[in-house]
Amino acid sequence: MGRFDDKNLEFVEDCERALDAQFREADRIAFENQAKVLDAFSRNKVTSWHFAGSTGYGYGDEGRDVLSKVFASAFGAESGLFSPHILSGTHALTIALFGLLKKGDKLVICSGTPYDTLRGVIWGEGGTLEEMGVEIVVCDLADGKFDEEKIAANLPGCAVCYIQRSRGYELRESFSCDEIGDLVKFLRARGFTGCVAVDNCYGEFVETIEPVDVGADVIVGSLIKNPGGGVAPNGAYICGGKKYIERIAKRLTAPSLGAEVGSYEGGYRAYFEGLFLAPHVTAQAKKCSLLFGEALTRLGYENFPPVSGKMSDITRAVRFDSREKMLSFVNAIQSASPVDSFAECEPWAMPGYDDPIVMAAGTFVSGSSIELSADGPVKPPYTAYFQGGLTYEHGKCALLTVLDKLKN
Ligand SMILES: *Cc1c(COP(=O)(O)O)cnc(C)c1O
Repeated sequence: MGRFDDKNLEFVEDCERALDAQFREADRIAFENQAKVLDAFSRNKVTSWHFAGSTGYGYGDEGRDVLSKVFASAFGAESGLFSPHILSGTHALTIALFGLLKKGDKLVICSGTPYDTLRGVIWGEGGTLEEMGVEIVVCDLADGKFDEEKIAANLPGCAVCYIQRSRGYELRESFSCDEIGDLVKFLRARGFTGCVAVDNCYGEFVETIEPVDVGADVIVGSLIKNPGGGVAPNGAYICGGKKYIERIAKRLTAPSLGAEVGSYEGGYRAYFEGLFLAPHVTAQAKKCSLLFGEALTRLGYENFPPVSGKMSDITRAVRFDSREKMLSFVNAIQSASPVDSFAECEPWAMPGYDDPIVMAAGTFVSGSSIELSADGPVKPPYTAYFQGGLTYEHGKCALLTVLDKLKN
């Protein structure tokens, strides 16, 4: 086919055939999640005037309120909080943690070192949890699993147990909802009555259940990842138990205001539409990840997760033996993007990260990583994290471009 090398195309089509069962499973999960989201829309009686924006205080902004409810319904939660004013996943997690924790409380992080941008929220100066007087304990993973005994030993006095579902920039597997559920059961059996909060970034709609279905009290995620369906321009959600969401809403706005204020003149159609598309788009991203996984494994590049295993997020970690190879991979993704395909990716000191980050995101929504993207800290072991793809076909085009580049 004109644009691509015939041999590479044959190779990729052979990879596709090997993934038939996984692709069918991704479609089945998308169907179940689509039905769930559709039900969330109809139960909350979404109508076209919910798409309209509002101004000023935003009292009685029904679009905002209904969207919060639709997110809660879709994720099986009692209550939800959506806002276009939550700037990113990190911001949403910050609001959640500061809403849930008070001075003197203990936070137990069950999933090892948290995501890069969270570290500066938790420790150090500048209005962090540590500065506020929260006691913080990190329980490192044991062989990639939750270290239950270590977690149990730290439960006395614990107010919040925190779990990061996706791997972030760590070389570990993501946690499935079943694994999260097992940990919640364990915590409850040990008498823990506090809040279990889950960083659900990249995990939404990957399985047919979400962490709330297995007992998590609060889940948090970004709308420029899975649940925005590639259409939401920004924002985040926080869903969970009503008593927790009320506290968090007071942190989002002000303790005297809660969720009843907040306007957005731009309107909400893109958020509704994005959530509606999210189960399908997430399945497209999963298929892109599987195709890259199969092809890169055959070519001898170490990558996670194995394509034969169960997926619990959309990311794929790919290891390269040099900085040059890593940058070449990331640049191939950039060059196969619909926007800024001509740009050269350079590592830069991104706010919130300790190491220089290189990021290919030739995306319609700036920095969106439900769109085809690849990024990572430029340091050994040179690992690029690949994710997204609004359409499977785009992922396939991008893989063919990568194969061309890696060969040279
Ligand atoms: C993306 C992500 C976040 C939040 O990142 P933002 O870039 O601030 O949206 C947090 N945790 C994990 C695991 C993530 O993947």
